[in-house]
Amino acid sequence: MDNFDVIVVGGGPAGSASAGALVRAGRRVVVLDREEFPRLKLCAGWVTPGVFKALGIEPEEYPRGLHAFDHLVVHVGGLTFRLPTRQYSVRRLEFDDFLLQRSQAAIIRHEVREIVQRDETYIIDDAYSARYLVGAGGTRCPVYRTLFRHNLQRDSRTQIAALELEFPCLWRDPRCHLWFFERCLPGYSWYVPKSNGMLNIGIGAMAEHLKQKGQHLHAHWEQLIARLCREGLLDSEPGPPSGYSYYLRASGNSARLGNALLVGDAVGVASRDLGEGIGPAIRSGLSAAESILTASPYRPHQGSGLSFDEILHNRLLRLLGRAAFRMLGITGREISLEGR
Ligand SMILES: Cc1cc2nc3c(=O)[nH]c(=O)nc-3n(C[C@H](O)[C@H](O)[C@H](O)COP(=O)(O)OP(=O)(O)OC[C@H]3O[C@@H](n4cnc5c(N)ncnc54)[C@H](O)[C@@H]3O)c2cc1C
Repeated sequence: MDNFDVIVVGGGPAGSASAGALVRAGRRVVVLDREEFPRLKLCAGWVTPGVFKALGIEPEEYPRGLHAFDHLVVHVGGLTFRLPTRQYSVRRLEFDDFLLQRSQAAIIRHEVREIVQRDETYIIDDAYSARYLVGAGGTRCPVYRTLFRHNLQRDSRTQIAALELEFPCLWRDPRCHLWFFERCLPGYSWYVPKSNGMLNIGIGAMAEHLKQKGQHLHAHWEQLIARLCREGLLDSEPGPPSGYSYYLRASGNSARLGNALLVGDAVGVASRDLGEGIGPAIRSGLSAAESILTASPYRPHQGSGLSFDEILHNRLLRLLGRAAFRMLGITGREISLEGR
């Protein structure tokens, strides 16, 4: 049996962040992931400046493909808003591989199936043991399933269902578009151009609301594709999308039991307004490492829990104010929300 100080299950942003901080503090860490990296991960790959800040690097230092936006194009109820803000898109295939390599932890491809706790030690599949265990395996994390399921109930009201597709495309519009509440969708759809001629399109919505309204995400997908073709953002129908679900941040989650900690999607940390999960996953991973290293309380939820807060500040209020224009019949043109 191979013994480590810490076993991290899952090499996504949450696991890599935890592993990197622990390695830097001199701990022997192994990351077990069932996938060989670089691996595909369903995600629009939108990252905020806060993500780079948490990683301690400047965006320009990121060595893989990065596409920058100096504003977002937001469509709500027939109006189009231009929201100045610096944001980025990455390919998760590249981003997660970069983070995992950068952690300098031992990386082993291994699908975790059985977790046993014996005295002060966690034993994985009779092959790996450690005093600390970090569950970073995403929504279906085996650490959650084995150790936390009965103490940490997931709230179905915070579940997001998503469909998306990333594919090579000579996109004509380099801007990020977001459509909110189209056809009563309890969520939004996106068009996110990426570097090196890649495009990501998708839809995310509150799963329970969809069900209550008798709506199907695939029907919204068809409408999104029709809209993108109509508006000249796509030339032809792309292939079929893939689906995934994850949980937004819920209050009161106890994400540490003994020396086992849950981070990222395994606990549910994504922002409540836009479902931004990468930054919160990284911050929860860093907090878990800090808790292991200093015996301080583990705080998986950092900040306000909102992305719009960070991106738009009082511009959102202006947006809502401008929505009143619609009632005056001023529609169909792009309104800029420049300034403070
Ligand atoms: C369609 C979609 C679009 C999104 N768009 C954005 C966006 O644009 N911006 C944003 O900030 N967030 C977005 N999110 C959310 C974001 O992708 C997640 O919140 C984020 O990936 C969470 O990171 P994580 O490290 O917790 O988990 P993950 O990135 O899911 O990593 C979990 C890892 O655990 C491994 N694993 C799982 N089970 C096992 C096992 N049994 N044994 C070993 N390894 C295992 C997996 O292989 C995986 O590598 C989106 C999510 C979806 C579904």
